[in-house]
Parts: sequence; C-alpha cells; structure tokens
Amino acid sequence: MQRILIVEDEVKVANAVKMGLEENGFEVEVAYDGRMGKSLAANHDYDLVILDLNLPHNNGYEICEVIRRRNNKVPVIMLTALGGMEDKMQAFELGADDYLVKPFDFRELLARIRVFLKRAGAEMTQNSRYKLVIADLEIDRERKEVWRGGKKIPLTAKEYQLLELLALHKGKVISKLMIAEKVWNIDFDTGTNVIEVYMNFLRKKIDKDHEQKLLHTKTGMGYYLSEE
Ligand code: CA
Repeated sequence: MQRILIVEDEVKVANAVKMGLEENGFEVEVAYDGRMGKSLAANHDYDLVILDLNLPHNNGYEICEVIRRRNNKVPVIMLTALGGMEDKMQAFELGADDYLVKPFDFRELLARIRVFLKRAGAEMTQNSRYKLVIADLEIDRERKEVWRGGKKIPLTAKEYQLLELLALHKGKVISKLMIAEKVWNIDFDTGTNVIEVYMNFLRKKIDKDHEQKLLHTKTGMGYYLSEE
C-alpha cells in the first residue's frame, strides 16, 4: 500500500483529503502542524507528501527541505491559500513537484497524485533494470559504466560482461561453464585459464583497494558476487 503524508493545519481540509485518499486505497498519515510534519518527514519514508505552506511552528518550505534531505525522489505537492507567483516559484525552488491553490477540487489532487506515483513507479523499475547496486558498487547497464565508492572504474568489454553476469545473479555461484558460454560464447574446456585470468583482473580493479570484498570463489564450483 502506498503511504502518503499530509501536513495541513486546517483540520477540515486535512481530514477530508485523508478520507478521500483512504477511500482510494492509500495509507495516510496526517500532521496538523509544522513541528509534527517536520518530525514525521524526517523519520519516515512516504511515497508522496502533501504539504500546506502556511503552518504553525515550521512552514511548508522548511519541511520540504527536510524531505529533500532525506529523499530526493519523493513527490511533494504543496498546498496554499496564496496563489502568488512568488510563492509558486519558491515552492519549486525548494523542491516541490507541484503546487495547488486552495480551495481545490479533491479529484484534481487525486489525479495529480496518481500521475506522480505512476511516474515514480516507472522510474524505480527503470532504475533497477538499468542500474545494479551491490554495496558501494554501481553498474550502469545503459552506459556500461562501473563505479565503486563513487569512483569510476575503467573496465574492458570482457571484464564488464563478466562483472555484469555475476551482478545479475548476485549471491549465486556461477559456473565457469556458464561464464564461458555467456561471456566468451565458447563451449567449455578449450584448455585455457582465461576465466581465472579475467577474475584476477576484475579483483584488482573492483576489490583490491577496498576492505569489503565483493568477488568470491567457490572452489571447484565457480564464482559469485556478494556483499558478505
Ligand atoms: Ca495552513
């Protein structure tokens, strides 16, 4: 179930939105003032946040900053009674994704929420399809780039393919036979130790400078990549 945080001090508005969202299958938490909103936003993860601008204690801008510090991606929809251009610009500058002027139609809010959640969901699927992350190792499958601890690691095409194969099967032992087939397109037992050689290349580039080793050998069985 997707979780939405509403920060709104007008109890009537907050409760009406809460009820409407719950009827549409969302899990909803409400903060009725800025302090509570800030605390919830700082300590919990939400799929989306609806944020009133004028609040007791901490205003919507401050809370938006807190949300952004915790999570860059969560969609934030700001609500306000003021329709001024200045507020709108400031809301976007502070990282709000959308802006709704009160009084608003609940269906309008719901439609926007659905758009944002759909977009966020699509991005997440896309990211996991194109990006593999294991501990501090990142593999960008679109760009064929590898990073460890934020540092780019240049790999040859074969080294990359070998690493990607292991990463796609994270934690599973991959036999030399499978590696030979998938990376070198050859049947096994050509009598070379090419796989051992490439594993050594990879270890030097990926693991050597790091205390946490990611590439492992299962003697007589094959290799695996894991953060153990
Ligand atoms: Ca208010």
